[in-house]
Amino acid sequence: MPFEIHKSIGNKFAIILTTKCNNHCVYCHTETNYEPFFEYSFVKKEVLKQIPKSAVEIQITGGEPTIVPYFLDFLKFLRRNYPNTRISLQSNIRMLSVKPFFEKVKEHIDIIRTTFHSKDPETFDEITKVKGSFYQVVKALEFIKEADLNIYFMIVILKQNYKQLKETVLFLRNFFPTKNVYLDYPLYLNRSLNNKDLIYVSLSQIKPHIEDALVDDRVFVFNIPPCIFEDEFRKHVIGEDFIHDDRYVFPLSECNSCVLKQNCNGYYKQNLLIFKNYSDFKPVKDVKK
Ligand code: SF4
Repeated sequence: MPFEIHKSIGNKFAIILTTKCNNHCVYCHTETNYEPFFEYSFVKKEVLKQIPKSAVEIQITGGEPTIVPYFLDFLKFLRRNYPNTRISLQSNIRMLSVKPFFEKVKEHIDIIRTTFHSKDPETFDEITKVKGSFYQVVKALEFIKEADLNIYFMIVILKQNYKQLKETVLFLRNFFPTKNVYLDYPLYLNRSLNNKDLIYVSLSQIKPHIEDALVDDRVFVFNIPPCIFEDEFRKHVIGEDFIHDDRYVFPLSECNSCVLKQNCNGYYKQNLLIFKNYSDFKPVKDVKK
């Protein structure tokens, strides 16, 4: 896989620093390879070439970027060259459970985005396929809370965790009363597609559990169209604001006249192709007053 930098609306950029990971999550759709990490000098050159100084945000993502050998140097490099840009880290945060490493990372990061799978340690580790990952993540969360770092959470909805969504959201609320939590639906591609019999749960199955988990106005739904929910819950549905591409499609011809269309990203084209779940979508002709 070549080195990739994605640009999105709002002058934001995402750097895919590696496709390697120290987890083996059952829902992951990242195309993995086993090449060595990219040459650091090459990465720096490409970043300077492709990302303007006026960038609003640079997100470092992967795979798992914290396992890249030059990760800490790279953070310093970004800070030095983009002093006015928000630097965000997308990470499973297991490495941040090591205090000295965390102390160095926190100096150069403005916001962390992480996935949190379950409040139940066994379920969490069953999803990451790494024993002890739950406790490492909780340790990292303690450091993040203590340092008052900005963080937000994704919960990817799977057969393993969909019945515990509300408890998991409340677990995070105890830690971080005001941080955003996004309930996300997986894209079935690469490993997640291979694991579909293990992890797939339909939109109609998850609907009541999601509605139950929307405990406050900082819990959002992502990658699921608003029409599957009752009217009062639709305000929690948000669109993709980072990487815009052609992965999404409006599933029905009736979508064209749906009044929710302007607040709908559509649905993953790939998922529709695999599961043919057209009947899940209910175009709305009129919104109740
Ligand atoms: S019916 Fe189509 S346009 Fe309307 S919310 Fe559902 S997917 Fe979106």
